[in-house]
Amino acid sequence: MNNKHDSVSAKEALKLNLRAIRTIYATRKKVLALRLTKFAFAALTPYVGIRLSALLLDELAGARDPKVLTALVLWIIGSAAGITLIQSLLDRWHDGEQAGMYIHIDHIMSGKMASMDYADVEDTETYKLLSVINQSRQGGGWGLHHVTHNLNNLWSSLFSLGGGVALTVTLFTTPVPEGSGLAFLNSPWVTAGVILLFIAVSLAVPAMTAVCDRQRAKVVTRHNLSNRLFSYYGRYGDREETAVDARIYDLGRFCDKYNFDKTNLFSSKGYFAKLNRGKLGFLSTLSAAASVLFTGLVYLYVCVKGWSGAFGVGAVTQYVGAVTMLFAGSFRNILSELSDMKNNAYFLKLVFRFLDIPNRMYQGSLTVEKRRDRDYEIEFKNVSFKYPGADTYALKNVSLKFKVGQRLAVVGRNGSGKTTFIKLLCRLYDPTEGEILLNGIDIRKYDYKDYMGVFSVVFQDFRLFSLPVGENVAGKVDYHRALAESCIRDSGLGDRLDSLEQGLDTFLGKDYETGGIDLSGGEKQKLALARALYKNAPFIILDEPTAALDPVAEAEVYQSFDKIVGDKTAIYISHRLSSCRFCDVVAVFDGGALVQMGSHDDLVADENGQYHKLWHAQAQYYAEEQV
Ligand code: ADP
Repeated sequence: MNNKHDSVSAKEALKLNLRAIRTIYATRKKVLALRLTKFAFAALTPYVGIRLSALLLDELAGARDPKVLTALVLWIIGSAAGITLIQSLLDRWHDGEQAGMYIHIDHIMSGKMASMDYADVEDTETYKLLSVINQSRQGGGWGLHHVTHNLNNLWSSLFSLGGGVALTVTLFTTPVPEGSGLAFLNSPWVTAGVILLFIAVSLAVPAMTAVCDRQRAKVVTRHNLSNRLFSYYGRYGDREETAVDARIYDLGRFCDKYNFDKTNLFSSKGYFAKLNRGKLGFLSTLSAAASVLFTGLVYLYVCVKGWSGAFGVGAVTQYVGAVTMLFAGSFRNILSELSDMKNNAYFLKLVFRFLDIPNRMYQGSLTVEKRRDRDYEIEFKNVSFKYPGADTYALKNVSLKFKVGQRLAVVGRNGSGKTTFIKLLCRLYDPTEGEILLNGIDIRKYDYKDYMGVFSVVFQDFRLFSLPVGENVAGKVDYHRALAESCIRDSGLGDRLDSLEQGLDTFLGKDYETGGIDLSGGEKQKLALARALYKNAPFIILDEPTAALDPVAEAEVYQSFDKIVGDKTAIYISHRLSSCRFCDVVAVFDGGALVQMGSHDDLVADENGQYHKLWHAQAQYYAEEQV
């Protein structure tokens, strides 16, 4: 993927931003409506104060009628109270609806990840793309979330612009008295010139800010790299998985090399420090100066017109307030918001490149028959498979059949194709050639989710979550407690569960709960097994189910395998051939091909077979088991 920050045209930027708004708010129209109302109201509010104060000052400087003054004061107090009340009602209403918007936007991304073809999930291009999107979001706040802020600011600036124009028009249209000596100010050319000057000076500020922003957006790839290095090396010592090595090998100093490196954009010798001392620092100063100059010009023009008798003192305060808000506020904000949206468009392009990754796998619609008798049959028919982008076959012409209730062991050396066989069975990938049938029907024709429901898998690199034990087992918050408990007992963790004061509600890990527990590798594996049992799918697939267990626990699990698995079809990937004795059928893989299939006893007896070799290679470690 090209990480270069290529610019996006204004038209494309507009399209991308509109699409982002639709993507975010398609299912949240109420939030959008409330947001727009709240920001429009907030933008117009200050003008009410400006107008009423002007009227009050004019009255004080003019007729000083107590009745009018009282009415104006009451209006000022009443409107302030009314505005505050409406504002807080809108805030309350909006904030309630708004809660969860961040999570909603995150769900758009994670939902895509969950629904895309698994081949794309594993694809390094997808990983790189997602990593740039996430880093840009964390580092510079770019991407989908950014659009919500742009929308708020742009919307309120547009309203503020409207209010400002309404209160400013008369500044330019009210003529200076002819005899004042300043009548040249009435010329439309002079008026146009003043307006242009206001616009030019107020434009200078966002123009300079835009240069700075573009500079930052341009180095986002380097920015991201520095962020990644910083979060990796900066936290080496306090991450659980690296803390021990960091201590023993004193890796702190080694990491400092990367933290304080000149290539780190954030270091004191880094790119940003250099920019701030040079070009960007200069532009910031210049833009501050332009702001001051602008205020001076406004006062000059308004006061000169006021002094000449064009309008009274009240109007002077009104015009100074309104013009400043109009040009230095809303007008400038609109421009900088548009420029910000254009910068963000590049990141939106990346987001949509990710969201638009197509699903190439065929999605069938057949439902998997939920058979009470669990009479399922799986057949691989001449299945061959190459991983995307790979030249060689990971599986070659595999044909086999197995029926429900059977215990199938899949064995073979590393890289022989065992895991690939399981991944194809679970339809994480589709075969390159051949087909896989469930009860005689090609598995591609089934609804994907429905088909997934047929399998419980404990992969070797399974993950448990820092959540309560029961929720981990059930995979949900509202679960059947008695069932979760019996699954935990069946998987051999009954005693451990009894020892927990909080039982099923005990947290795993200490990330979110100081009273959380740390389980041993073997205990975790048993809990993962309990999770597979809770799903109660007709097929249970275990990848090295006892790898992390000590010999005693391993023997226990094997003894209770039949009870644990019950009437389900079980498939074990196993390196320990001793476990194959508990299985009805053993499938032996070698170099991506199925080279033998049969019962343990028959295969051991075949002296020329691969299984015989593997068995005898391991037998020396399990001498006692041969007896
Ligand atoms: P086993 O589970 O028997 O150790 P695998 O099924 O994991 O073997 O691997 C079979 C072959 O496929 C190996 O040559 C391996 O390098 C290759 N392979 C596995 N996963 C991938 C992948 N995601 N992309 C490309 N090749 C892979």
